[in-house]
Amino acid sequence: MAMEIGRLQLVEYPHPALLRRTRPLVKIDDGVCEAVEQMFDIMYEAGGIGLAANQVALPYRLFIINLEARPDAGEELVFINPTLSRPRGTAVQEEGCLSLPGLRMDVRRPERVVVDAWSLEGEPIHLDLDGLLARVVQHEFDHLEGRLFTDRLPEAATLEARRSLDTFREVFFGKQSRGELGPNDALLAQLHQLEAARCTTT
Ligand code: ZN
Repeated sequence: MAMEIGRLQLVEYPHPALLRRTRPLVKIDDGVCEAVEQMFDIMYEAGGIGLAANQVALPYRLFIINLEARPDAGEELVFINPTLSRPRGTAVQEEGCLSLPGLRMDVRRPERVVVDAWSLEGEPIHLDLDGLLARVVQHEFDHLEGRLFTDRLPEAATLEARRSLDTFREVFFGKQSRGELGPNDALLAQLHQLEAARCTTT
């Protein structure tokens, strides 16, 4: 069953696409390639360096990165069905997220990690990462697991973040009550359709 991707848009917390695990892609069709193109445009427009598919309401295990945040510089990386292994060391660095605009907080993560994935061309990727790329890959991988960086804060910072999350929720529910966004069951039905089109059913 083919399914058009349509015009994608950034979604913000607590959109249900952000809060559930994404599903492995079983095929890379034209729709996926078109989605990746749109995702790079959206990421550059928003000034981001990484973007996961569920941040544009696609329930797929796919994320993109360009550490230079510009189409004319850096390298455009696409990771499909990624897995992480061999976490080593610890590093603390401030993070932000296009799905939590304006919120920035220190996040502790492993300093190095190995990522295995597939490229858009179907080639295997195997990279041992450190520095900013290791951090961004882990941040985007968390998205695919339905986790946000606010789920990784120490207790005191969690309390601090809670007020911002409450505000995001009020804004989101306000949009739903004014009909600017569909109700959650309609948003979930859309995600299920997209999964049925490109993921295994089990
Ligand atoms: Zn993010």
